[in-house]
Amino acid sequence: MRRSGTVLLAILASSLVSAGALSAQGGPSVDPRVKALVDAVSPDSMEVWLAALTALETRHTLSADLAPERGVVPAREYILDRFRAFGLEAELDCYRIPAQGRITVEAEVCNVVAVLPGRTDRRIYVSGHFDTVARRDDGGGFDWSRWDNPAPGANDDGSGTVLTMEVARVLAASDLAFDATLVFVAFAGEEEGLVGATLHAQRAVEDSLRIDAVFNNDIIGNVEGGNGLVDGRTLRVFSEGPADSPSRQLARFIRRWAAPYVPGHEVRLIAREDRFGRGGDHTAFNRLGFAGVRFSESRENYSRQHTPADTLAGVDFRYLARNTRVNTATVATLALAPSAPDISSPRGPRLDRGESGYDAVLSWDPVPGAVGYRVVWREAWGVDWTHEVRVGAVDRLVLPDLSIDDYIFGVSAVGPGGHESLVSPYVRPPRPFQPIRELGR
Ligand SMILES: [Zn+2]
Repeated sequence: MRRSGTVLLAILASSLVSAGALSAQGGPSVDPRVKALVDAVSPDSMEVWLAALTALETRHTLSADLAPERGVVPAREYILDRFRAFGLEAELDCYRIPAQGRITVEAEVCNVVAVLPGRTDRRIYVSGHFDTVARRDDGGGFDWSRWDNPAPGANDDGSGTVLTMEVARVLAASDLAFDATLVFVAFAGEEEGLVGATLHAQRAVEDSLRIDAVFNNDIIGNVEGGNGLVDGRTLRVFSEGPADSPSRQLARFIRRWAAPYVPGHEVRLIAREDRFGRGGDHTAFNRLGFAGVRFSESRENYSRQHTPADTLAGVDFRYLARNTRVNTATVATLALAPSAPDISSPRGPRLDRGESGYDAVLSWDPVPGAVGYRVVWREAWGVDWTHEVRVGAVDRLVLPDLSIDDYIFGVSAVGPGGHESLVSPYVRPPRPFQPIRELGR
């Protein structure tokens, strides 16, 4: 019965928890070609672009009537021109929508989308939102029927927009053959309720596009919190639950692969879809089943958000560059890797106890381009993978005497350059409630 591609791993159960830890296996290895991309990230170009965008006074989604000197129209044209100057296929991604919610008049909402084709058409997104909003000048609240307030939006989210442009510039200039197609997007309508991202994501579902990951960057360039606490050495990555959601696998991947490329700059994983009570464009993708995360600075200054005070002075370009390097390293690694293994079957993930009834037996479909696989596991109470085994081009692994009840398992595909896919987790959704019928009711 033993299939040709099976590996039986002879590890004593008693040694499993102490041995085989990630450090004993060695962490992810640096690819000098990816390192060169990371080194090419520069704060200088981002500063030039952000100065140009903030000079337009506002980029409010409904501000088309302020063209050509101000507002959303010259902003999107500027971003479009830069993408094209990098040599990318770029276009406006426009939708006509009726008034709804915070969109108080019929409007045309246009994202700016640039594409770097890979060997396959599975997509990896890098994004920020280029639109802005500000409260009324008199210190009052938002007036969604007014869009001529000064709203420079340098940090919210000019920072994420120019970060996206810089990742696009660096990757477009490289001669690396990416397996995945890279898509760089400056979204519109975020401030009105993730409008541009939702329109794009719902059309992606209609068009059956495969989106493997969304790296969304929003409020990512400020180091000094409104409470005076300063942190230029960490950033936050927010991911939506449950514990083994696609979003969480992407978050774990980012922390794992940022570390060797941007040492001294710590990725803090936040097990929450966004900041408390707030949201971002990644949420639109998560809602539709895609893997999205949000990158944000660790210390926010709320008094500078959604006000005329959100100016260039509040952006630290060296910090923004380090956050751009984190994006560059992790996006490039994921795009160079094969796709994640398919572990599904009509009866759930392919994990069982084997012939003994007490082993962990995992199987998966071979992945084109993979030279090996990394099988990972952790205590079922744990947060991140703690153990790993690397195997060659097989499609099955037996872990003797390892309880499939007590541990969560996963597998990723590894390409010839050591680049790893996201982890496919062997988990089952909760069972739906099944009522028991009673007599006489
Ligand atoms: Zn924002």
